[in-house]
Amino acid sequence: MFEKILIANRGEIALRIQRACREMGIKTVAVHSEADAEAKYVKLADESVCIGPAASNLSYLNVPAIISAAEVTDAQAIHPGYGFLSENADFAERVDKSGFVFIGPRAETIRLMGDKVSAKVAMKKAGIPCVPGSEGALSEIPEEILKTAHAVGYPLIIKAAGGGGGRGMRVVHTEAAVLNAVAMTRAEAQAAFGNPMVYLEKFLENPRHIEIQVVADKFRNAVYLGDRDCSMQRRHQKIIEEAPAPHLPPRARIRIGERCAEACRKIGYESAGTFEFLYDKGEFYFIEMNTRLQVEHPVTEMITGIDIVQLQIRIAAGERMPVKQRDVILKGHAVECRINAEDPRKFTPSPGRVTSWHMPGGPGIRVDTHVYNNYFVPPHYDSLIGKLIAYGDTREQAIARMAIALSETVVEGIKTNLPLHAELMQDAAFRRGGTSIHYLEQKIAKSVKGE
Ligand code: ADP
Repeated sequence: MFEKILIANRGEIALRIQRACREMGIKTVAVHSEADAEAKYVKLADESVCIGPAASNLSYLNVPAIISAAEVTDAQAIHPGYGFLSENADFAERVDKSGFVFIGPRAETIRLMGDKVSAKVAMKKAGIPCVPGSEGALSEIPEEILKTAHAVGYPLIIKAAGGGGGRGMRVVHTEAAVLNAVAMTRAEAQAAFGNPMVYLEKFLENPRHIEIQVVADKFRNAVYLGDRDCSMQRRHQKIIEEAPAPHLPPRARIRIGERCAEACRKIGYESAGTFEFLYDKGEFYFIEMNTRLQVEHPVTEMITGIDIVQLQIRIAAGERMPVKQRDVILKGHAVECRINAEDPRKFTPSPGRVTSWHMPGGPGIRVDTHVYNNYFVPPHYDSLIGKLIAYGDTREQAIARMAIALSETVVEGIKTNLPLHAELMQDAAFRRGGTSIHYLEQKIAKSVKGE
């Protein structure tokens, strides 16, 4: 096992990974920007290294600075968390070439899955059901684009091969709009991701977002840790996640899970990963694979009792998968609310000093956050400041506990989306379970209109 791990991230996930390491008796190195120098997890780390100024491109994305930090501290492995460099194949390769272990899949797997076109081709080959669409990237020839669009049917969605974070997508309803939409998405994709390749697929009008958590070792042992429903989204960003997905027939769950585990064996996947699907009228359609730890991993940990971060570390160290599929037992239900520092109605970021901070507790409540009383939320990063996770024997109990937890939570000095979460816990459609990915936006639009 590793003696020391460098955590190349910040915020709640840096603390989450640090906790996993400490429990395993592994020393930790925190790297941080100047803006995060006072963070509690930086102080709690065995060592810390400042890797640059506040701007992420000069610190958390600064590859040479992170590699030197690993060198000077004698760390053996690097955990990238989520976001930042976690899905950057060049970084994974640099880590490897510099003599450290990257805690995640092999660089070539990250590269394969990072290009959504090659990912879809590979997944289809591995037996994963995909959204019907163009075979690979779209041609440059207008007549051919129109032909493909016609064959797939309307409405359709144009997506950038290099897209991510909900960017680089455009829905098209009519033939007249196709060519212009393709040109615009191409230009945006070139500017944002340095890759003008786009593809198209059928736009599913009322799907749910259901994903499968997998973990695989270096010996082609792969297991799936059940599913999560992440349909409560705004601008393609998840805000509530739960496990297991409500009302999913048990047989459908097993069938898709087994296929994902089998796909991992086929492509030689290593570490934790997530197959993201749209689920529509009883069918699963693959949209992408995330080759990293996800924000919402705690709901899966709650219902399986498996520490996914510790598994990632064991697998990276070359250990064999300690759990077999038959040992994975899904028990109870878990819901996660992402706490964002933002205006609950206008959704504008709300960084600043937290003047009062009180987190909930009680049976089944888990709080993953790096924030504390008097903490200053820096304006330079993502607005996620913490996650509330509620576990119960049933979905009803998990939601009831979450509602209580939210009512106990106090955050002052900055604005947060806690009021929105409190409202959603009482929402009849959410309580029934199984709302589509458009539900939240439609609800927000209605309340803006004052209906
Ligand atoms: P990203 O990598 O940017 O997160 P994804 O491919 O995972 O992109 O898609 C993000 C979200 O966009 C999905 O959760 C869904 O809400 C929407 N979306 C993507 N593809 C489709 C599709 N074919 N039909 C309907 N909605 C889609």
